[in-house]
Amino acid sequence: MSRHVLVIEDEDDIAQLVKLELTRQSCEVTVCNDGKAGLAEALAQPYDLLVLDLMLPGVDGLEICRRLRSQPRYTPILMLTARSTELDRVLGLEMGADDYLTKPFSVLEFVARVKALFRLVDMLVNPPADAPKLIETKDLRIDIEKREVTVRREPVCLTAKEFQLLLHFAQNPGRVYSRSQLLDEVWGYSHSGYEHTVNSHINRLRAKIEINPNDPDYIQTVWGVGYKFRNASKG
Ligand code: CA
Repeated sequence: MSRHVLVIEDEDDIAQLVKLELTRQSCEVTVCNDGKAGLAEALAQPYDLLVLDLMLPGVDGLEICRRLRSQPRYTPILMLTARSTELDRVLGLEMGADDYLTKPFSVLEFVARVKALFRLVDMLVNPPADAPKLIETKDLRIDIEKREVTVRREPVCLTAKEFQLLLHFAQNPGRVYSRSQLLDEVWGYSHSGYEHTVNSHINRLRAKIEINPNDPDYIQTVWGVGYKFRNASKG
């Protein structure tokens, strides 16, 4: 079954390039050139992926992101932007984008990001048969099949990437990960330079699951190395 991707991008040459590459990946592609039409289209039917430009006429990419994240259906979002300041990166991720690509980007990089997002969705929809269905440690409970996380019985709303990151940690308690390892294993990037993406996702994850994000209990900092998930045997 081919995947249906919605591209909201007002620069026509980029929209066409993205469409061509997605078509080569056997995707069905719909393109919208302005934010208002794009938002209406994104809300009208389910898409497997949204490739979303940040600066758009009508409604901008952040607003589209925010509106989609208030919907019950989860659509992975790859955000494109000409701006590359840290603030914009963080804003896009705060608004619920799953990944972020700064223009100009290489076609290879674009395709790698798209494939990584598809793998993420596949993993969430079809976890391996022998994988545990439930992980519980202290007050944190991860229902893998239902993709539900609760802390002290309170539901926590995570993006697809935050969920995948948490699961990756929780399935390997006590194991120490460097940022570049996490990029490789969770994001599927084999290149470095995006370690800030890892930091901002971990900060947001901590803000959602930790009682005190400044003194995290679940996702702990290993100074000078990276992060690890709390060791279950130590209470
Ligand atoms: Ca634009």
